[in-house]
Amino acid sequence: MQRIDIDGVPVFAAEGSGRTTAVLVFGVGLRDETFAITEVTHLVEHLAMSALPRTHLRCDAVTDVDTTTFSATGRPEAVGAFLEGICRALGDLPTERMDLEVGVLQAEGCARGYSTLGALWAARFGLAGPGLVGADGPGPEYLTEETVRGHARRWFVRGNAALWCSGPLPAGLRLPLPPGPRPVRVVPPARPQTGPVWTAGHGGVGLLLTCGGAGDPALRVGVDVLERRLRDAARHARGLSYAVDSRALELSADRREVAVVVDARQGCEGAVAGLLWQAYAQLCEQGPTEAELAHAVAGFAEELDDERAVAESELADAAYCAVSGLPFRPVGEVLAGWRTTTAERVAAALRDTWATAILSVPGDAGYDGPGDPVQWRPACGVHTSLPAGETFRPSPLARLFDRQRRVALVVGDRELASRDADGDVHRIPWELVEAALPTADGRAALVVGRERCGVFVDEERFGRRAVAAVRARVPADRWLLRPAAREGALVPAT
Ligand SMILES: [Zn+2]
Repeated sequence: MQRIDIDGVPVFAAEGSGRTTAVLVFGVGLRDETFAITEVTHLVEHLAMSALPRTHLRCDAVTDVDTTTFSATGRPEAVGAFLEGICRALGDLPTERMDLEVGVLQAEGCARGYSTLGALWAARFGLAGPGLVGADGPGPEYLTEETVRGHARRWFVRGNAALWCSGPLPAGLRLPLPPGPRPVRVVPPARPQTGPVWTAGHGGVGLLLTCGGAGDPALRVGVDVLERRLRDAARHARGLSYAVDSRALELSADRREVAVVVDARQGCEGAVAGLLWQAYAQLCEQGPTEAELAHAVAGFAEELDDERAVAESELADAAYCAVSGLPFRPVGEVLAGWRTTTAERVAAALRDTWATAILSVPGDAGYDGPGDPVQWRPACGVHTSLPAGETFRPSPLARLFDRQRRVALVVGDRELASRDADGDVHRIPWELVEAALPTADGRAALVVGRERCGVFVDEERFGRRAVAAVRARVPADRWLLRPAAREGALVPAT
């Protein structure tokens, strides 16, 4: 692997003959957005691609949780023209196409669906950072040109980019990105927990663990053994027939979120969740057997037989580490680490994650949880009592005749709270309001909080003063303008 520098962008290249594959990576993704501007990275990506002339080149762009990539495969000169075109477009986005590309994103959004990973990350972080992957934001139609350009200016810069290239490096390649440093990425605080919890989420069954940096192989080996145990269980109980996968999300050099996700057959999710938890708890307690350890190492070594695939995945990893500020480890070094890991260290590494474990199960699985000591945790920040503050209620007559109207709204100094007809209290501290979406007539707004609580504040139930009081407390940048109201109107109609 060769490392060079082109226009201030690190380039990782492995020369070869024939076609060129090149991938331009940026250290920005959904985790760098906020709920109010969800999909802004994806829109930047679409606008940049839309600026390029149509070619026969095989090219693609992907916005993921922590990276955005532009890739092309073909003749070196065509790949070079693609990369240069993308860099120029990112420096001056064709925002006149925004309405069109917003429409495309809306169409894609319909088909996106919820993933198990998104559910797990949302259970950890709420509507922030990686937690946004599982959430539908207000929608790309709420994004303004200023927001989109500002996002591109901050994140799609030289200091936050890297290129990897396999095959002939395009002659005279230019990467004319705007100058700028790699922005500091914020890791949102995790929702507090003092021991393992289980929760109901979208997607399939999954387990999420917080652990240290990728430098320690013990946890990776442990997760590998956990996956193998689940696959073996599936073979012996075919009725459950599930697929097992894992994903590590590097949040910083010393913090990872490792997820094990299981796609269970419909109706079997509860049983599969039970098996997943049992396998994890057993490994924490006893660690893997020597045979399992040897099997995991042999499996990893076997994956390295495909030389071209390994070379490309190392290039991709080097580019990823460059934009993420993480140390790069050649795959041979990683394997050596696996070989020297002991069963005791694997068990210890898994036990270290115990108090951070989140088990997510589909809400309709009819599952009662793994039992003690795994505590149930609701999907949002539910409380039992209302805080102090100005209280608004529907009229006594309305409350008398309609159970659904036995609700209350409190506008306090520190938070907004509502009690629903079931008696559950949802509280949103003002600084954790992620967005307030007013209705077209301005007579109501949905306030969405970091912990995924949604409070609907409307004149009809709570009166005009309640809506005005909430409006006055919500941080200005979180009170979103309706797309149609953007032009001219600075405040929504009241
Ligand atoms: Zn809530």
